[in-house]
Amino acid sequence: MTLQSRLRDVENRLEQACLRSGRQREDIKVIAVTKYVPADTAQAVVREGITHIGENRWPAAKAKWDVLKGQAVFHYIGSLQTNKVKDVIGKFDFIHSLDRLSLAEAIHIRAQALDIHVPCFLQVNVSGEQSKHGLAPEDVKTFITDLQRYERIHPVGLMTMAPYESEPEATRPIFRSLRQLKDDLNGMSILKEPLTELSMGMSNDFEVAVEEGATWVRLGTVLVGKEEIEEG
Ligand SMILES: *Cc1c(COP(=O)(O)O)cnc(C)c1O
Repeated sequence: MTLQSRLRDVENRLEQACLRSGRQREDIKVIAVTKYVPADTAQAVVREGITHIGENRWPAAKAKWDVLKGQAVFHYIGSLQTNKVKDVIGKFDFIHSLDRLSLAEAIHIRAQALDIHVPCFLQVNVSGEQSKHGLAPEDVKTFITDLQRYERIHPVGLMTMAPYESEPEATRPIFRSLRQLKDDLNGMSILKEPLTELSMGMSNDFEVAVEEGATWVRLGTVLVGKEEIEEG
């Protein structure tokens, strides 16, 4: 399949999911996850009008950032080690993987040095799988409260990864829980500004995530394909 036909196919599927759930297509933004593909593919995606790029490791992201900075908005979607914060903050516009206070502190300090604010999603491990990063759902309220001491961090919403399911419908309770958690947190008036964003849905399950309220879907394989690439 060509890139254009993949984009068309994803677009149709997004529109159908919106129709099924009474949502507006413009309320859902697509992040092209380019971690599996080289920089020229990422450039082609941006030329086709998808200007949000997601990467999960700085060494692999660097080539894309070098050619696309200023043309694309960069989303850091991988687990972030504290000692990698200096590489990432200032280059990536959104962090989707904030899950601990030590990381929040490191981001805050770096953001202060650069005199910027950093929009962050709090990653939540809704499924409870051992292999997944993220806060336990019951810890998010305390975490958000503690986060307020880092004024350079701007919490915009919640992010989760559902377990891979051969039947995507099986992911629905995960996405529904994340939306419910967001609504609960917003009802507690612990935040200066409400959380508005839900980063959820990948190639295998994005339609279900959209039906359950995703505002950002992170699409790799289904959108840009998957290739073996050398990491620089
Ligand atoms: C790789 C990755 C994606 C995209 O995965 P696909 O299944 O290829 O769409 C989305 N989110 C995160 C956090 C990822 O690491």
